[in-house]
Amino acid sequence: MENGLHIYIFKVLLIVYVLDTSAILSGKFFGSEIATSPKVLEEIKPKGHSWRLLEYTKSIGMKIISPAEEAVKKVIEMAEKTGDIVNLSDVDIDVIALAYSLKATLLTDDYSMQNVAEEMGIAYKSVVEEGIKKKLYWEFKCKSCGRKFKKALPQCPVCGGKIIRVSE
Ligand SMILES: [Zn+2]
Repeated sequence: MENGLHIYIFKVLLIVYVLDTSAILSGKFFGSEIATSPKVLEEIKPKGHSWRLLEYTKSIGMKIISPAEEAVKKVIEMAEKTGDIVNLSDVDIDVIALAYSLKATLLTDDYSMQNVAEEMGIAYKSVVEEGIKKKLYWEFKCKSCGRKFKKALPQCPVCGGKIIRVSE
């Protein structure tokens, strides 16, 4: 029904974290206000375990956004200055630039990416550090006889069965 009243809804794109490939493949939950660069998707082979993690991350709300060209230039400039440029791929540069564009926190374990982020005043967090907060405790179990062990073994010392990792 047309009543002449137009309501405009502005949806503000709030991105808290920008994820690099390792952050996506960690399978950890960082909330749903997350994004990555389209170049990251090209790094992940379709149909494998990594692909499923990517699909999962997209299903919980990850946006795929290209960084501003200006931001990419700034990242390259800074990486050349710090010397990190030799360790950074096009994908890495794009991811840093996206965090810069969106004023989001960068999630990466890559030291060079963190270093450039630091220089540019981009907040960053390590994926591994995140993991420590939600630390999982593992034990190891023989698939054949069911005996449990405190550490990973190549095979069961009792029956020679396969050892699998299970959470406590
Ligand atoms: Zn066994």
